[in-house]
Amino acid sequence: MLDDIRRCTLCAPHLPLGPKPVLQWHPQARILIAGQAPGEKAHNAGVPFADASGERLRQWLGLTAEQFYNPKLVAILPMGFCFPGRGKSGDLPPRPECASSWRKPLLQQLKQLQLTIVIGQYAQAWHLPDAKSSLTETVAAWQQYLPDIMPLPHPSPRNNIWLKRNPWFAEQLLPQLQQRVQDV
Ligand code: SF4
Repeated sequence: MLDDIRRCTLCAPHLPLGPKPVLQWHPQARILIAGQAPGEKAHNAGVPFADASGERLRQWLGLTAEQFYNPKLVAILPMGFCFPGRGKSGDLPPRPECASSWRKPLLQQLKQLQLTIVIGQYAQAWHLPDAKSSLTETVAAWQQYLPDIMPLPHPSPRNNIWLKRNPWFAEQLLPQLQQRVQDV
């Protein structure tokens, strides 16, 4: 299936830089990073989270780059596997074709999954059908989703203001997240 995904052109006409799926997956993975879609840097590198967001996410999780990029430990399946292009206020939404065509069957084969990190509104809509009305409210309700799921805001530097406005995130949520990751 991974070979088929790498050859996928399903939504090629909508992708300004063309199809180039950027994901990480192994059936033994115990942690799933459910993100949005690769940014341009990750697209160019062909490596998920090969940017400032990735550095911050690894810090949040308490994982080294070596651990983070070990597919037997961490699966990285964004809602759309290819860079969707840029809009007026950041990257465009992930292409909707990807989730049901590829992502769903890959998720079904993660038999050892213990923790899903849900990043941003598109992944929340898929993984948390009972999410609150805003991303902030859902993240603030993190205790109700553990131990299986942890909702996070996007670790992008664009969210620095959100992080400043919500100091409970760093003070309360992150220590619990890091503990759970270590347990897994
Ligand atoms: S985003 Fe998904 S469905 Fe679209 S071309 Fe890339 S791999 Fe295929």
